[in-house]
Amino acid sequence: MTLASPFTAPEGARPALLTTLGAQVAAGARVSVADAAELWATATDAELQALAGRARARFHAEDDATYLKMAIVNYTNVCVARCDYCAFYRFPDAPDTYLLSFEQVCARIDALLAHGGTMVGFNGGFHPGLGIEHYLDLFTRVRARYPGVSFYEMTVAEFMFVAKRQKLSYAEAAARFAASGTRWITGGGAEILDDHFRLRHSPGKYKVEDYLDAQRAILGAGMGSTGTMVIGFDESLDERLGHLDRLRHFQDEVGGRLTSFLCWTYKPYHTELGGSELPLREYLRWLALCRIMLDNIVHIRTSVLTRNESALLGLRYGANDFDLPTEDEVTQKAGATISHDFDAVLAAGAALGLRLRYRAPFPVGPGQAAHGGR
Ligand code: SF4
Repeated sequence: MTLASPFTAPEGARPALLTTLGAQVAAGARVSVADAAELWATATDAELQALAGRARARFHAEDDATYLKMAIVNYTNVCVARCDYCAFYRFPDAPDTYLLSFEQVCARIDALLAHGGTMVGFNGGFHPGLGIEHYLDLFTRVRARYPGVSFYEMTVAEFMFVAKRQKLSYAEAAARFAASGTRWITGGGAEILDDHFRLRHSPGKYKVEDYLDAQRAILGAGMGSTGTMVIGFDESLDERLGHLDRLRHFQDEVGGRLTSFLCWTYKPYHTELGGSELPLREYLRWLALCRIMLDNIVHIRTSVLTRNESALLGLRYGANDFDLPTEDEVTQKAGATISHDFDAVLAAGAALGLRLRYRAPFPVGPGQAAHGGR
């Protein structure tokens, strides 16, 4: 199934479908993949917004949204995975590789603090020279030096590489990280959880079941994790819908322990894959469909990193949270532009009639509704 049809001005979904789905999403009942596909093809933007709003209202007050300021610290650009959509990585023998020292990492965190930020996400490549001790030592030291900062220590994809390199099972590696104080290994690196997609674009990274096994082990060890998705490559609608369906079944299985879901858009500049940027309208429509389908994830996050202040429109398409990024070389290398004029971004939210609140980190574990909903 192609993705083109919705952008020839959909005329509106069948009234019977809208009535049925309206009742379903308000009750938290699962919307089938077939109904989601029909919605995508036929619903107007306003219809998608309305349904996403009903789904969002189960968890959050209509005009409330939250955010925080966050730096993504890319501690190394060395990577052997060779994803064709990535403009960031360098092979180990390239002339422009780097590995940040502890003090260089701290300088990045200091820069975040100067912006009033409170969260750091670490994200690097699959560096064949770094053993698990390197990560444990780095994370332990930064947590000790910055007790007021919360950390997303690594992503599931990086965790998988480290465990394999160390010849540890995922359970063994997760136990090591958890015992050292690691709290979060987030769902980064998921992009599209579909083995055909993975074979086309990143055959060296993982197979989908392997990714989910790793995330199971992370959650099983008591750490937190999240769901993510990236759209705008060449993925089919079936691949996108399959990703969301897989994710919600996984969330059922792990008892709601995925705290949030973040969807962002592929940046095509300077990548081997190339292509063009996804239109904003398609991103917003997709966010709405995510909110409608992901009936068991409390927080849906919209991406300022890849859509700048226009991402805040996503808060009227089902999302309820975002971060204001201070840096992320991975997306910046592929064309993302980061503004430190945070007031301008927040003004876009106020113009939408939203009450924006700076938030504390989400707690590890099953998510709670922010108001009287589920
Ligand atoms: S996306 Fe991540 S895993 Fe893939 S090449 Fe880039 S740094 Fe490596």
